Amino acid sequence: RAKARGRQRVEVHDPTRTDAGVDRLRLLGELRRGIAAGELRLHHQPLVRLADGGLCGVEALVRWQHPVRGLLPPSEFIELAERSGLVRELGAWVLEAAVEQAAAWARDAEMPDVEVSVNLSARQLTDPALVGTVTAALARHGLDPRLLVLEVTETALVNDPDVAAAALAALKGLGIGIAVDDFGTGYASLTYLQQFPVDELKIDRSFVSGLGTSDGDSAIVTTCVQLAHAVGVRAVAEGVETQAQRDALRDMGCDVGQGYLFSRPVDADALREWVVGRRA
Ligand code: C2E
Ligand code: MG
Ligand code: MG
Ligand code: MG
Repeated sequence: RAKARGRQRVEVHDPTRTDAGVDRLRLLGELRRGIAAGELRLHHQPLVRLADGGLCGVEALVRWQHPVRGLLPPSEFIELAERSGLVRELGAWVLEAAVEQAAAWARDAEMPDVEVSVNLSARQLTDPALVGTVTAALARHGLDPRLLVLEVTETALVNDPDVAAAALAALKGLGIGIAVDDFGTGYASLTYLQQFPVDELKIDRSFVSGLGTSDGDSAIVTTCVQLAHAVGVRAVAEGVETQAQRDALRDMGCDVGQGYLFSRPVDADALREWVVGRRA
């Protein structure tokens, strides 16, 4: 249609010309400044063994303490960071902060040794600098690599399987764990699961929330748990909100649960209080 109106009236598809584009561009600039200014925060959510209720790990989840808009969840800025490439800086900050926190907990007599899981974006996984960044962070803080788990999505694995496989092999070589996040929502085939050196499948919240009310979701979760065990990896259920869901997961042999039933993601001090309070 643009062409029909002649050369003078070519439609402009520059996304920055729209209001939303201007907003995104402004937010991107603010995020770049915010990262440099130390405005990112980590919250932590416990992972609980379903058999005995014991704490086995925490997931580190990034937030942005925006000077005007308050504490922003990742849904407000992660996609933007990924599309612009700023996720490299963001991801490096998260890794450094999570490893530092894990090392502090390892020295803390009140805290059991917990694995800390860190989310990787697809871009980070294929970044040749990743292995060096992880190695340096572990060394700097003296963290036992067995206490670090990196979470990757099926999409990140499928996009560039050869590069992903090489990166995962190198990371496994350091002694850290690998989890597949949001399992069931992507397109990873069963062959990929055998091909990639994975330790944990995290079953997506969208299936867990239907446990007990949707026969289809229950069947999917059961199948994911069996699949995880068939390839010798741990099954983790995300988004456990009710006791009925927890009981159903335990009955089907799911190893670990994570969700609001146990705790929302909280800052490091609150997580420590949660751990100490639970022991009492
Ligand atoms: P995710 O890795 O699947 O993390 C789990 C998300 O589910 C978290 O949202 C958590 O707060 C939420 N959640 C946990 N339990 C429940 C529950 O019982 N009910 C409900 N409704 N939600 C629950 P959050 O913190 O907003 O993070 C969203 C996503 O942002 C993450 O999903 C992850 O994909 C991404 N993300 C978070 N931190 C980072 C990071 O440091 N780097 C990268 N690349 N991505 C991150
Ligand atoms: Mg300790
Ligand atoms: Mg995750
Ligand atoms: Mg997830």
